[in-house]
Amino acid sequence: MAVEHTFSIIKPDATERNLTGGVNAMIEGAGLRIVAQKRIQMTRPQAEAFYAVHKTRPFFGELVDFMISAPVVVQVLEGEGAVAKYREVMGATNPAEAAEGTIRKAFAKSIGENSVHGSDSAENAQIEIAQFFSGNEIVG
Ligand code: ADP
Ligand code: MG
Repeated sequence: MAVEHTFSIIKPDATERNLTGGVNAMIEGAGLRIVAQKRIQMTRPQAEAFYAVHKTRPFFGELVDFMISAPVVVQVLEGEGAVAKYREVMGATNPAEAAEGTIRKAFAKSIGENSVHGSDSAENAQIEIAQFFSGNEIVG
């Protein structure tokens, strides 16, 4: 399997509870390498653009409000099959359905406030990474 990059966000519910290190320990424990990372306050236009694919969903407004409610940590993760591997480590969107040992099982509060984002394809990973990082901020 090829070494690839995926895009991760540690969401406001996790940064507020001081869980950045806890999430990162699970990421690293799964064999993924954090090759870029910064803590930012997302703006409303940034959050709306990032989640544009969901703009017709009933939870879109709530999702954008949540994502700008506190700082987030945006990251680039590197590893073999990083996109699929991180989705596995994250667990199901709804923490009630997330498997034991996953980040969302361990930390998520609800289906909306679910602690982490991870790209769903290598193509989307590249698009999402470019929304938050320039090439010289990613150092493997
Ligand atoms: P994932 O983050 O697992 O890829 P989706 O892409 O389906 O999940 O949804 C994006 C984000 O929107 C979720 O992580 C969650 O924060 C929020 N969300 C999804 N479904 C709901 C819902 N039914 N109610 C509230 N928020 C939701
Ligand atoms: Mg998604």
